[in-house]
Amino acid sequence: TIGMLAIDQNGDISGACTTSGLAFKMAGRIGDSPIIGGGLFVDNEIGGASATGLGEEVLKTVGSFLIVELMRQGKSPQEACEEAIGRIVNKPGKDFKDFQVGYIAINKQGEIGAFSIHEWFNYSIFKDGENKNIKSDYFNK
Ligand code: ASP
Repeated sequence: TIGMLAIDQNGDISGACTTSGLAFKMAGRIGDSPIIGGGLFVDNEIGGASATGLGEEVLKTVGSFLIVELMRQGKSPQEACEEAIGRIVNKPGKDFKDFQVGYIAINKQGEIGAFSIHEWFNYSIFKDGENKNIKSDYFNK
């Protein structure tokens, strides 16, 4: 999945999400990326979020919508991404070692956040004419 969030000089937020789905997916599987609230959600009054990873797990928690709602309640984008990952991994007995989910988020102030279950999650920020590549992880926090 490639999820993108942007904020312009007027503070207007937009987002996009594209994917080829999962390898060896069942015919007809849709995944989270094309489902608004799952792989992508933007509310221009609050912020936006996008997901990558195992779409079934994102959909069970309506992850991108959840992140925007958590930001509406006052959480920072980083706190909201961490809580959304927590909703997936903190289920009793949940075995998450074999799948990944990662989120990115931005709020109306242009603050950003990102978090993932496992270490192998990279994202980029383009700001003030500069590109930065960042590695996000869960276990090393
Ligand atoms: N989220 C996508 C899906 O489950 C997979 C991906 O991250 O590329 O369809």
